[in-house]
Amino acid sequence: MAADVRPSGPPMMTERDGLRPKFDYDCLIVGGGPAGLTAAIYLARFHLSVLVVDAGKSRAALIPLSRNHAGFPEGISGAELLDRMREQARAYGAELREGLVIGLQRSTTGFTAQIEDKRLRAKTVLLATGVINRRPPMTDDACHDEGLASGRLRYCPICDGYEVTDRRIAVLGTGERGCNEALFLRSYSADIALVAPYQSHALDNEQRSLLMDAGIRIAGQCSALRLVDGGIELVVDGQPERFDTLYPALGSDIRSELAGQVGASRSADGCLTVDAHQRTDVPGLYAAGDVVLGLDQISHAMGEGGVAATTIRNDLARKTPLRR
Ligand SMILES: Cc1cc2nc3c(=O)[nH]c(=O)nc-3n(C[C@H](O)[C@H](O)[C@H](O)COP(=O)(O)OP(=O)(O)OC[C@H]3O[C@@H](n4cnc5c(N)ncnc54)[C@H](O)[C@@H]3O)c2cc1C
Repeated sequence: MAADVRPSGPPMMTERDGLRPKFDYDCLIVGGGPAGLTAAIYLARFHLSVLVVDAGKSRAALIPLSRNHAGFPEGISGAELLDRMREQARAYGAELREGLVIGLQRSTTGFTAQIEDKRLRAKTVLLATGVINRRPPMTDDACHDEGLASGRLRYCPICDGYEVTDRRIAVLGTGERGCNEALFLRSYSADIALVAPYQSHALDNEQRSLLMDAGIRIAGQCSALRLVDGGIELVVDGQPERFDTLYPALGSDIRSELAGQVGASRSADGCLTVDAHQRTDVPGLYAAGDVVLGLDQISHAMGEGGVAATTIRNDLARKTPLRR
């Protein structure tokens, strides 16, 4: 069922009108990945009205087959997992809508969100907006997606390092991030090269010795890369080299800009900071999943979604404790 979203135009009732503000939803969830959808399932089952607005770029949708997500011994694709979660959320009355939330404003009692050309009001907002991985320079999106689907390109060693045990692995990165990713992968394979994304590596002496002690090759600059039969070819210092798989370690962009609009605190790298119950420091605003500093994993995103939803329910119940 399509969400009942008000058209923009005539101003909505405000607290300055001296009237009790009318809300469209108890909770607006921004982001329909594992964190947002888990929260939607919980909130709908708490008999609260909930709308999920999702721009359709969940990182989970990129997972060809997740083998570390508990309960699926044969593995499950990210797309199927999301489909199942959407079905479950809808079954309990959560409304799901495709779209991009472009603005968020806070009043003393709730929030107004701008969803493309529409506005709506919610008592609470959960930000489950995730992050976007920075991609390696590849010729086109189709090539990138083909690399992901075939496992020649991977983004998450915690998720799928096991699958590349004893393979020839390149890590595209440098500095602390590149060094840590290469060292993490060293417990899966003895054949690891750390390839510089720029002209030279930004490694200090301690990082260089850690890498060398672990037998990780510090390779030169990657100027081009392409998929080849059964692997991925990187041009390193002008010479083509074939690897079984490539892990870009180029960092990610945190989707926390809406939190910035209402003045919520963020860490230096843009992650949202929350208390142990997923509350931000803006009353009524909660956050869960990758957008919060923590382990970027489905299980963690789901756990935080469940905690956030229960906190939202309990915070709202302090104001309206009984079912009408
Ligand atoms: C290739 C790959 C493989 C992975 N494999 C695994 C694995 O095997 N196991 C595992 O546990 N984890 C894996 N992960 C990590 C996992 O996908 C993430 O940890 C998980 O998706 C985080 O969930 P989330 O709900 O926080 O964010 P996401 O799933 O990224 O969802 C966030 C959603 O919010 C939407 N959004 C953002 N801003 C707005 C806005 N302003 N308005 C509306 N919508 C918005 C986005 O479009 C997106 O749909 C993998 C990640 C990648 C990239």
